[in-house]
Amino acid sequence: MIISMRPHSSKEEIEQVCERIRDFGYKVHTIVGEERVVIGAVGVGDVTACLESLQAIPSVESAVRISAPYKFVSREFKKERSQIRVDGTVIGGGEFVVMAGPCSVENEKQIMDTAEAVAAAGAKILRGGAFKPRTSPYDFQGLELEGLKLLAKARQATGLAIITEVMSDRDVDLVAEHADIMQVGARNMQNFALLKTLGKCGRTVLLKRGMSSTLNELLMSAEYVTAHGNPNVVLCERGIRTFETATRNTCDIASIPVLNELTHLPVILDPSHATGKRSLVPALSRAAVAIGADGLLVEVHPKPEKAFSDGAQSLNFEQFRAMMEDLRPYLDLRSQSLAVKQV
Ligand code: PEP
Ligand code: MN
Repeated sequence: MIISMRPHSSKEEIEQVCERIRDFGYKVHTIVGEERVVIGAVGVGDVTACLESLQAIPSVESAVRISAPYKFVSREFKKERSQIRVDGTVIGGGEFVVMAGPCSVENEKQIMDTAEAVAAAGAKILRGGAFKPRTSPYDFQGLELEGLKLLAKARQATGLAIITEVMSDRDVDLVAEHADIMQVGARNMQNFALLKTLGKCGRTVLLKRGMSSTLNELLMSAEYVTAHGNPNVVLCERGIRTFETATRNTCDIASIPVLNELTHLPVILDPSHATGKRSLVPALSRAAVAIGADGLLVEVHPKPEKAFSDGAQSLNFEQFRAMMEDLRPYLDLRSQSLAVKQV
């Protein structure tokens, strides 16, 4: 259920409503907006009786049932798009936020050079895996703590915020000490122990769509993080498994407007994993701008041919710079058209 309080309701009135909801056996989650407070109630109970009881309270403007299986992340719960602040950058606030860097952190020079190059080209957030989920146990597994320290060093040198993957609930505290955004990889989208722990970590979470997951499942996973206390979740489309073999994954570009209808959370595209091929990354990035994504997660490496992982889909510095340059007129067009819509 979502309960909208009348504008400027008092603290006591809000607490009275929360008490009533709890009496019916539901958990309460409040969102304080500029004008009004919205209260979410989740759990199992007598919905009809609870709604009737709430509708009789004068300070309640409306109390409605949320039909979606996910509640806090649904558009029914919150109409305005969520804006998530990470350092000085706002994701979901109109700016197209580019996160870029190598698939894996390999050594100090590699990550420092990449951080400088992507920052100069306009990226706001540096990516780099320290814990790597690899299909083969014989492949490079990441530098782990040493990689996290190198990312922190790059952050210090460039001012870029850091996004890096956390693979296990055991590592959440350690990764949160070094990263600004905790990435949940496609293979871990339904690692519920991890999602629950991330609900308490106090950092923004970037949740990647599982390679065989529906959008409903993606949103249910986001609901785990939110229901456990962390509303700062960004969703990421990274391609799904289909019968097509020309690309590493099939980029479900339609997922972006679908998600924008279903949820208030920001949505970004990872064109690197979605295609597996660097030549396709710029075209998909343009598509992301046009279709309303809030940003990109792109793999960039000083020497893609020598990368420890995902070299074939990584751009070199010059290719990344050129792509960012090429995106500029599309981004200008997008902000103009948004400005026209707002008038
Ligand atoms: C990655 O970002 O390097 C990665 C492993 O991505 P995904 O989880 O989408 O495969
Ligand atoms: Mn990768």
